[in-house]
Amino acid sequence: MKEVWIFIEQEDLNIHPVSFELLGIGKKLAMNLDGKVAALLLGSGVKPLLEEIFAYGADKVYILEHEVLRYYRHIPYVYALTHLAKKYRPEIFLIGATSLGRDLAGGVATHLETGLTADVTELSIDPDTKNLLMTRPAYGGNIMATIICPKHRPQMATVRPRVFPIPEKREGYFGEVVEEKIELSEEMAGVERLGFLPKEKTVNLEYAEVIVAGGRGIGGKEGFEILRELARLLKGEVGASRLAVEAGWISYEHQVGQTGKTVRPKVYLAFGISGAIQHRAGMQNSDCIIAVNTDPEAPIFKIADLGIIGDWKEVALALIKALKDRGAS
Ligand SMILES: Cc1cc2nc3c(=O)[nH]c(=O)nc-3n(C[C@H](O)[C@H](O)[C@H](O)COP(=O)(O)OP(=O)(O)OC[C@H]3O[C@@H](n4cnc5c(N)ncnc54)[C@H](O)[C@@H]3O)c2cc1C
Repeated sequence: MKEVWIFIEQEDLNIHPVSFELLGIGKKLAMNLDGKVAALLLGSGVKPLLEEIFAYGADKVYILEHEVLRYYRHIPYVYALTHLAKKYRPEIFLIGATSLGRDLAGGVATHLETGLTADVTELSIDPDTKNLLMTRPAYGGNIMATIICPKHRPQMATVRPRVFPIPEKREGYFGEVVEEKIELSEEMAGVERLGFLPKEKTVNLEYAEVIVAGGRGIGGKEGFEILRELARLLKGEVGASRLAVEAGWISYEHQVGQTGKTVRPKVYLAFGISGAIQHRAGMQNSDCIIAVNTDPEAPIFKIADLGIIGDWKEVALALIKALKDRGAS
């Protein structure tokens, strides 16, 4: 039976949500192949995670526990996954396009001598050939290219966080567990982790429930100070269009869109953003889009659930006042 493999990214027993998103799309692909979706769980002492992995849709879990795999290192992880893939020959292998996933996927694909499509935004099965259709922006985002890997297996792709939704959790479901063993040594790992430097608070746009985003229409750096205040009161994060980032008003990690981050918040507030296709590509799956723009013809209004034709600053300040009046701090 054909298998769609999903790499479970975990650190200190916390699973990265992109792994659940991949289980969701993996299940759909597996159904189109009359196959199964299988999760790959590597680490040490990771069995407590099995329940959660099955709850998010895995039919099967391959578990490989070893002290050398306690935390991520390129060589042993690539070695272990390559070993498993050669033994079980999955049809498809999906990995989250996180920093870890990008590092891992290239190594695995190289050792398996197969292709790898990075950063895909759409996945489906060709009904005639049963090949995986992997779509991603190409030529600087100017076209969408659909890539196939017809001659080699597995068909491999990395997928950006938030491109696919997290599937519904099914409590109490359990599937097949395959416990694997492998010989690994500290020496082969090549590197040792001595510790972590304290991490500065970084922007968590992908998983924010509320995003307050600004574009060129907000006129400058000072505009983002107001949006920051609004985001703080709403317990959200600040997003931006590429033009605002290119103008130097805010850093790149805030950029939403095709060449920035893909987001799916409950509420996306767009202030002074025209709604170019490259921006929409990163935020159109938000549950509720509220757009504020002086131009009634701005394309953002075509996808907005609520559109306000007006000056961004007036609306943002009025919202801040209303929230404070209601006791937000
Ligand atoms: C290959 C490629 C990749 C790209 N990737 C991205 C990407 O990842 N993300 C991205 O955002 N863009 C991306 N772009 C750029 C994109 O095409 C647009 O140029 C950009 O999104 C426009 O930014 P904007 O909406 O802030 O600016 P503009 O298009 O200039 O829009 C500003 C808006 O503000 C409104 N406005 C002006 N004054 C006010 C006011 N006082 N109050 C309210 N509204 C006001 C205007 O009516 C206008 O609609 C990419 C482009 C290319 C070619």
